[in-house]
Amino acid sequence: MSDKNNLQEILNKATAAANKAVAERLPLNDKSDLEAASRGLIAQPPADGIQTANGRKVWNLADYDFLDGDCPHTVNPSLWRLAQLNKISGLFEVADGVWQIRAFDIANMTIIRGETGWILIDPLMTRQTSAAGLKLVNETLGHRPVSAILVTHTHPDHFGGLKGVTGDDPAEPADRVSHPPIYAPADFMTYAASETIMGGNHMARRAIYQFGLTLGTHPEGVVDGGLGKGPAKGNRTFAEPNHFIGETGEERAIDGVRFIFQMASGTEAPAEFTFYLPDYRILCMAEVCTQTMHNLVPPRGAQLRDARLWARTIDEALTLFGDKTDILINCHHWPVWDNVRTYLEEQRDVYKYTHDQTLRLANLGHTPHEIAAAIDEPDWLSEKFHGRGYYGSLTFNARAVYTKYFGFYDGNPVNVNPLPPEQLGRHVVDAVGGADAAVAVAQTAIEKDELQWAATLLSHVVFSGADAPQARELLVDVFRHLGYREESGIMRNVYLTGAKELADGINPLPMTGGRNADLAATLPLKDWFDAFAVRLNPDRSRGHNLMLNFSIDGQPACVSVARQTEFARIDFQCASPDATVTIQLPVLEAIISGNQTLEEAEAAGATITGDRDKLRQWFDMHDTFNLWFNIVTP
Ligand SMILES: [Zn+2]
Repeated sequence: MSDKNNLQEILNKATAAANKAVAERLPLNDKSDLEAASRGLIAQPPADGIQTANGRKVWNLADYDFLDGDCPHTVNPSLWRLAQLNKISGLFEVADGVWQIRAFDIANMTIIRGETGWILIDPLMTRQTSAAGLKLVNETLGHRPVSAILVTHTHPDHFGGLKGVTGDDPAEPADRVSHPPIYAPADFMTYAASETIMGGNHMARRAIYQFGLTLGTHPEGVVDGGLGKGPAKGNRTFAEPNHFIGETGEERAIDGVRFIFQMASGTEAPAEFTFYLPDYRILCMAEVCTQTMHNLVPPRGAQLRDARLWARTIDEALTLFGDKTDILINCHHWPVWDNVRTYLEEQRDVYKYTHDQTLRLANLGHTPHEIAAAIDEPDWLSEKFHGRGYYGSLTFNARAVYTKYFGFYDGNPVNVNPLPPEQLGRHVVDAVGGADAAVAVAQTAIEKDELQWAATLLSHVVFSGADAPQARELLVDVFRHLGYREESGIMRNVYLTGAKELADGINPLPMTGGRNADLAATLPLKDWFDAFAVRLNPDRSRGHNLMLNFSIDGQPACVSVARQTEFARIDFQCASPDATVTIQLPVLEAIISGNQTLEEAEAAGATITGDRDKLRQWFDMHDTFNLWFNIVTP
């Protein structure tokens, strides 16, 4: 049996060899992306980064200065290449009249010169980063008002900074606040909030893994998030869009600039558009295309995306605009300056290939893990970096295609009702003869570089509850080395966060959960009540039977709790409620978030008639979710 130092040496050697093989297989000396990502830089980002008004760090690329050196053995060299490119930051001229702010946050903000002011596309994720981007635009190109804002899709990295560019800042005098029209895809409001709020706590916890939010930036930590460095740590805001685009081919003149839209809803996001600027011969593919293979489901969790529709949507853009486009821009990464048609064909084929090959293998009788092991990357991907898995990954995406078509069950009766991890762990550890024996098997697996098998067995030991610190320590090492070899920035973060939580325990960050209060208060009542109903505790609601009438901002709703189930009917009042409440949604939101008491709400104008105890019981039947639940331990 090997001792610990010896195993470390074995792991280091094997990881170095794996990463060296990547460097030998890919044309990493090709500098064309470096040229494309640097082209047009006209203003540098603020030298000392971006802070909140009271000096808290929101964003600072100096955290990534270690990327200026050679790739260490702890990073996949292909990911290192992308990490260097995603660090190129500032204000870039795309064409005369079109600019981009890049690497001020995880996404890009695009700026178009309108007749009367700046048209902004996707104002980043936080108030501070979008404001800093706009400041650089005004300082460099001359001060102009914001005349319109377009939000391409429902993901928060593209709209959380809205109030940083509308002037709607508590620190600003009221007369400076502008209210430019905000354009968004149809159904934006249906999905913008519900996608991140209904399962928000679970998703937010897994996003901590995906973006490595507890890791720190260094060669053994976060190097890149695939689409950009990662989310900025500022304040997320929201302002409601008031113009909606619903049809492909729809043409609008926005502040004198012609836009032709294409609907891309159901691809990368449930509501999304792309657009073509005929006067500039520029096509913006929003996040449907990027300089990476995207996710069909992200590791943070989301509803499954449709790879076939995704490929068809890219092909439609190619048909509609391919011949008329000189430059293609996206809402992440740098532009495509030439050969746009080829780029679009290749991006299309990333999703079509993954879709078709997964179903081919499934139809041949393979199950998800077999498909992931069997699916090869298409040959051309070794020469075209924009199709590589820096954000998505082929194996993860193949499993997503399978799940979309067939669900989580793979057809084998043993998986109809699998054991939960703690029970399975206890049985496996017993079967191999105890925790020490399991550790010995795992050590042999590490010697043979069978890291996934070692991780599987060691995780069983951890979940068995056995007092086996050696198993934990080994699993930390295995997770780290799986992370060091990952080409996908977010998969690397997932492994390294797992390793950190196993080694150090969970150390909560001073941050709130996934709920953006501005956004939650804009939910349709049906969605707001349904999101609250997922907190109903069946033990605390057992035997209760209550009916509450609400009037919320004038809209009636009736909430019932019976049979340990909560149901809200909107635009309806029941005949004999236990209590009736007249209130505004932001106040109700403040009560359930613990930021206001019922008495404070009444003092501020809410009214309650009927049985107040029943209303109080209703609030008390709901769970409060802890963001920092366990993942790698029982
Ligand atoms: Zn994005």
